[in-house]
Amino acid sequence: MTNPAPVIEIRNLHKAYGPLEVLKGVDVTARRGDVVSLIGSSGSGKSTLLRCCNLLEDSQQGDILFKGEGVHWRGEGHQRRPSDAKQVLRIRTNLSMVFQQFNLWAHMTILQNVMEAPLTVLGRPRDEVEAAARGYLDKVGIGDKAEAWPAQLSGGQQQRAAIARALCMEPEALLFDEPTSALDPELEQEVVRVIKDLAAEGRTMIIVTHDMKMARDVSDHVVFLHQGLIEEEGPPDRLFGAPTSERLRGFLKSTT
Ligand code: ADP
Ligand code: MG
Repeated sequence: MTNPAPVIEIRNLHKAYGPLEVLKGVDVTARRGDVVSLIGSSGSGKSTLLRCCNLLEDSQQGDILFKGEGVHWRGEGHQRRPSDAKQVLRIRTNLSMVFQQFNLWAHMTILQNVMEAPLTVLGRPRDEVEAAARGYLDKVGIGDKAEAWPAQLSGGQQQRAAIARALCMEPEALLFDEPTSALDPELEQEVVRVIKDLAAEGRTMIIVTHDMKMARDVSDHVVFLHQGLIEEEGPPDRLFGAPTSERLRGFLKSTT
């Protein structure tokens, strides 16, 4: 059987903030249907890597490919930028991000939040977008909250609204940055359940998480970052069951 095609490929990526080298040559591939989890201590570069994927951050060296198509760059080193604005928009709208802090717009209802980007960025027809938005809100279990304001929802409900908003862009892949970190433990589980459902559906996802149980349950591949380099990676059972690096063993101990 042939492997599904890659949706995202990161090759030898280098990223620095001024003199601070955050990513020192990282390779990550997510094929269609893959769930890849990024784990590692705070400051190891997980969020930076995720933000580089959808070009929210510049990077100085290496390549980022979306469905086999390399990002076009101009300039070098700290001057390097993507050169094709249409390509950037295409990639960004196809890699929907879900953040730790939900980032819902407080002045819009939940339904308006979910509809906003498909309407304004993709220019899709309103009735079609509304039907899709209501469908995704049902899917994440908050169909009855469509007309509510974000402040009226619990953290877990707000994060599920943020996931519905990401889904409503019909992206090729979802990128999650610590989606459960801001939630109380009992609310965490309702978000984990939604992520598990999405994984079971065969969605392509890259998930930065501190939740080792979720990473073990949902991932096809787990990447352990340490100080901007991949220290160890592999299938979850192997990585969590028989970690070889001392650093990973230490990290896993610190999380339990
Ligand atoms: P993680 O998500 O693994 O906790 P980050 O990718 O957020 O790590 O950060 C990696 C390193 O980059 C940290 O040392 C952090 O302080 C630094 N960093 C992150 N964002 C910026 C920024 N915008 N400017 C300068 N330094 C940053
Ligand atoms: Mg982070």
